[in-house]
Amino acid sequence: MGQGRARNEPLELALYSRDAGVQSGAASAVCFPRSADDVASAVRAATRHGIPYVARGSGTGLAGGATPLDDALVIVTTQMNRVIAIDTHDQLAMVEPGVLNLDLSRHTRPLGFHYAPDPSSQQACTIGGNVGTNAGGPHCLASGVTSAHVLEIEVVLPTGEIARLGSLAPDTPGYDLRGAFVGSEGTMGICTQVAVRLMPNPPEVRTLLLDFMSVEAAGATVSGLIAAGIVPAALEMMDAEITRAVEDFVGAGYPRDAAAVLLCEIDGLAGGVAYQVDAVRRIGYEHGARNVRVAANEAERQLLWKGRKSAFGAIARIAPDYYLHDAVVPRTKLVGVLESIYAIAREQQLTMMNVFHAGDGNLHPLIVFDGREPGVWDRVHAAGSQILRTCIDAGGVLSGEHGVGMEKRDLMPLQFSNDDLAAQGRLIDAFDPDGLANPRKVLPSGWRCGELNQRSAPVPEGTWI
Ligand SMILES: Cc1cc2nc3c(=O)[nH]c(=O)nc-3n(C[C@H](O)[C@H](O)[C@H](O)COP(=O)(O)OP(=O)(O)OC[C@H]3O[C@@H](n4cnc5c(N)ncnc54)[C@H](O)[C@@H]3O)c2cc1C
Repeated sequence: MGQGRARNEPLELALYSRDAGVQSGAASAVCFPRSADDVASAVRAATRHGIPYVARGSGTGLAGGATPLDDALVIVTTQMNRVIAIDTHDQLAMVEPGVLNLDLSRHTRPLGFHYAPDPSSQQACTIGGNVGTNAGGPHCLASGVTSAHVLEIEVVLPTGEIARLGSLAPDTPGYDLRGAFVGSEGTMGICTQVAVRLMPNPPEVRTLLLDFMSVEAAGATVSGLIAAGIVPAALEMMDAEITRAVEDFVGAGYPRDAAAVLLCEIDGLAGGVAYQVDAVRRIGYEHGARNVRVAANEAERQLLWKGRKSAFGAIARIAPDYYLHDAVVPRTKLVGVLESIYAIAREQQLTMMNVFHAGDGNLHPLIVFDGREPGVWDRVHAAGSQILRTCIDAGGVLSGEHGVGMEKRDLMPLQFSNDDLAAQGRLIDAFDPDGLANPRKVLPSGWRCGELNQRSAPVPEGTWI
């Protein structure tokens, strides 16, 4: 690959031994390809030596997806960061995987377009990582998560072949391998080029801040809005603790005494936006909002969003460590599940904050703590396990957007039957017959070819992995 683009100094290996989650692994080497051919060379070399390898973008993942296990080779795509083409006529962009999510919209916004999926980490995470995790974000409520915006992917398969999945044309015939690859967390190969859909910038955008004296009233407003047929561009909720933390940090104009706030964005044609803003205001008050404020200008709108997007920075002022969870519950169960989450926090004596994509029921309970406190990690893990079980029992799913990685791998049987897991195992085997592409991620052990006698036992009550 050339001078300096493959490294194995101890510091380098330590830096790449984990992602932004809490679990560490161990790498044997790190390399920085600049082309699909470089990636294919790395994959072939690893395969020749029987060494596992893991694709990595910016390492902002929270589920240990990019954490190297078994002395894997880490293949980092951040030097493949060119926006190759922007086609405003067909409304698509062709990018390399290391392009940062926000950089893509910075490129296209002056041309009248943007890339819709906007993870809260968008200043740092890559499009390749977004494809790997099928990332979501505040503005995915109306427009869909990454999968809905990826048209075609160039992939280095675990065989070292370079294939194209999907197509620039709509409704391409054949099996939807593009759909299978998006969200595969590096277990089916490494994407080296992505064609994404661009969305026209909306002519009118209004952002509202609704504040409440109870979480119940905020939750009821979320359900009320969706029931009334209003699907905002974004609908985010923050509870009392995180609202205060953000306000102290950013000064975004959030009320420090609210039990919960909703940030609601409406976009589209001016007439439709005005109508929906009125409807949100009315439904908010009907369900107990104390105040409904519409940002008066673009600066105020940006400040409201800066608050929401700085939430994770804000908590660094409170404690040195956090554990951010990700699960989805039916919207109608939001309030009940939140009550259970607060009860779990009390029982485990932990500070719990909630900042999440309320519109699609995607909860992000955030445990804030000091990892140096004796015994605290046990309580953090116990709380996490209880939260996930509560969400599944409420009819929810294990992850809304962060993925499964190694964090939730062994909890998959809570959601999937043996037949489901076997089908997923056969699919991964078809892409990765040697089992070297990010092994021991996503699926619990025992569901892939050659592992059939090593199935992990069903997840016992209270287990955390
Ligand atoms: C503060 C904070 C806020 C966040 N908010 C959100 C949010 O709102 N929505 C959301 O969805 N996520 C969020 N995340 C999680 C994370 O940012 C996303 O999962 C993001 O998509 C990861 O991108 P990355 O480039 O950092 O990927 P990495 O962490 O490097 O990798 C993630 C996974 O993708 C795989 N991968 C990476 N590159 C490739 C490739 N080229 N080909 C195939 N597989 C690949 C990796 O193997 C790994 O399994 C947040 C994280 C943080 C720290």
